Amino acid sequence: MRKPSAALDGISAILLDMDGVLYNGDRPVKGAARAVERFRDEGKKLIFFTNNSAYTRREHAKKLTQMGISAREHNIVTSGYVTAVYLRKRSPHAKIYVVGEKGLKSELRRAGLKLVSRKDAEKATHVVAGLDRELDYSKIAGGLRALSAGAEFIATNMDAAYPSDAGLLPGAGATVGALVGCAGRKPDLVTGKPSPHIINMGLTLLNTKPSKTAIVGDRIDTDVEAGKKSGLRTILVLSGVCTEKDVKKIGGTGMAPDFVFGSIGEVIN
Ligand SMILES: [Mg+2]
Repeated sequence: MRKPSAALDGISAILLDMDGVLYNGDRPVKGAARAVERFRDEGKKLIFFTNNSAYTRREHAKKLTQMGISAREHNIVTSGYVTAVYLRKRSPHAKIYVVGEKGLKSELRRAGLKLVSRKDAEKATHVVAGLDRELDYSKIAGGLRALSAGAEFIATNMDAAYPSDAGLLPGAGATVGALVGCAGRKPDLVTGKPSPHIINMGLTLLNTKPSKTAIVGDRIDTDVEAGKKSGLRTILVLSGVCTEKDVKKIGGTGMAPDFVFGSIGEVIN
């Protein structure tokens, strides 16, 4: 068996970003399934993670499995799931107004949390904002009413945009930005990357230490930053958002990743 490259020497657990690392939209990245299999053969513990809150963990696991990467719900961490776990622990009696998609609502409900409808928005104790591809004026109005009445403001993430086959599309940052714009308040908490919340959950689930753990991602501003903040080894792959140019730009700064590869397939070659 060939040895994995030095990038993974001394590493026993890996947090693998999904979009831009394992696939782009519905297209698998070449060599991704083989790389994941190799990591597992080498005995490395894996978590697949994403800022995308639009789908449940179960849906993400199904997508990976269909791409030849076997994954179960408990192998997946999303910003929506992190938010649900956080709220269940800190505010189990929260009344949540969600500006986001079905997958986010479903994770919150599965954690036993109560959601409030738009007509009861001012009764909300928390507003949770995530990617919403059907964002409209009335949803924003509901969020404004809840925030004006004093609800805590939680953003699943602030990602400005994400790449798709149709070019860049607005991310959760568009939802959060709409609420910030009308309520005049910034989120009290961001749960997804680059916040340490999502990384800490990955470390806890894998029962691993930061020094033994690598993060593999395609974005410097979220994946690499999150990894650096939490003391993980950082591996950037250029199969998604970031390019060689971006790497050159941050070369020599504290933000430079520890290793850079063209794609995840190259990590094992
Ligand atoms: Mg990504």
